[in-house]
Amino acid sequence: MDSKLSIKRLKAIQPATNACITIFDEPMQAMKDGPLSTWSVAVKDNISIKGELTTAGTAILANYRPPFHATVIQRLLDQGVSMVAKTALDELGMGGSGLNSFHGIVRNPLNLDYQAGGSSSGSAAIMAAKAVDMALGTDTGDSVRKPASFCGIVGIKPTYGRISRYGVIPYASSLDHVGYFTHNVKDGAIALEVMAGYDPKDPTSIAQPLEAFSHLLSDDLKGKHIGIFKNVVDHIHDERTKALLHQLIEKIETAGGNVSWISLDETLLKAMLPTYYVLANGEASSNHANLNGLHFGVQQAGDDITEIMEHSRTKGFSRAVRKRMVMGGYGLLQAHQEAIYFKALKIRRLLVEALDQALEDVDVLVAPATSSKAFLINGESNDPLSLNHLISENFMVLGNFSGYPSMTIPMGNIDDLPIGINITAKAFDEKGMFMIAYALEQLIDYQAVQEVV
Ligand code: GLN
Repeated sequence: MDSKLSIKRLKAIQPATNACITIFDEPMQAMKDGPLSTWSVAVKDNISIKGELTTAGTAILANYRPPFHATVIQRLLDQGVSMVAKTALDELGMGGSGLNSFHGIVRNPLNLDYQAGGSSSGSAAIMAAKAVDMALGTDTGDSVRKPASFCGIVGIKPTYGRISRYGVIPYASSLDHVGYFTHNVKDGAIALEVMAGYDPKDPTSIAQPLEAFSHLLSDDLKGKHIGIFKNVVDHIHDERTKALLHQLIEKIETAGGNVSWISLDETLLKAMLPTYYVLANGEASSNHANLNGLHFGVQQAGDDITEIMEHSRTKGFSRAVRKRMVMGGYGLLQAHQEAIYFKALKIRRLLVEALDQALEDVDVLVAPATSSKAFLINGESNDPLSLNHLISENFMVLGNFSGYPSMTIPMGNIDDLPIGINITAKAFDEKGMFMIAYALEQLIDYQAVQEVV
């Protein structure tokens, strides 16, 4: 879409949604006749654009302007896209609601009383409001695939290392992925072909080339094997979600696809979220040790170096983030490593082995991305110890533990708000995942909810 119109639209929806941290006055475009020169793109505010505020949603980085572009930004600029905005996120990517940022809360443009999801909240919200063609996010636990469900858009996390993380402010490096939102599966495939690729500046980036497949997408499901993740479905309480899933299964079978129900060990799955928190918070506490007012970040006064660091971190981080740092650091202490951190690493391996087994006889594993539509901003929160929360609401972390490609597409609407279906494939099989996602997209024929702003 026209980038000036995009900026106008972003400004118009900002008072109601608070989705952006910076809206550019003029689009940033490196070339006018690139293959993607009609695309307006917004970027989560933890991804570096040279010279532009890049706050990662945290007060301690409220004035940070990187002196370089992230590799993914450079790759997109080289294709001619126009960058138009930096979007709001849960502080340092920590959260799933869009309610935890120094910048204030993000509202869902489809119904302002509801969350947009997180942590890539602003990117998802502006996509739902049709203000840009694509928005970048990051996904450490589900931060692209969950807001995609709440906002009725496509949210993609490719294989770990597929898109360079150079220039992306980390959360937990072994789980962090650059992900992104598009309006349809085909655009998602086109964008991946451009963004994927080895980057010598990112030691975790992978050299395996990505075969171009966006021109091959077809609605043919014959011979495809689709596994339905039974444990996730079992712990969903909303019958309307299950009804949408069963409608989809019927359509898949009518179209000639094979459907089977797959169960993973439930005890192992119950440990999934605690394991995620031990690992993610542990890595975060180490990654962010340099946000201390001396190396990086807004400096607060103090009588000595320790006091400067203490004051800078106390003032610079929210209580929720400080709690995560403390919990993460606790597991890493030498005295606790064996009982907490190393144990979590072992459970991560067991979960990945279980996922491998689940994927052995199917092309993809599929489940509703969230139990229901978005949560109310001022509503009750989920019981953190329920199986619904531990399994159905958080199973997508398996995609981060394994690094396997995983994406969410819209499945339908509940009470005039969207809900998505998640599709996870084997490592490096983005092609297989997109083929099925495209076919499902045609079967679902999603009717988007009209935005209210
Ligand atoms: N909601 C998860 C968390 O709070 C995932 C966040 C993410 O993927 N960045 O950590």
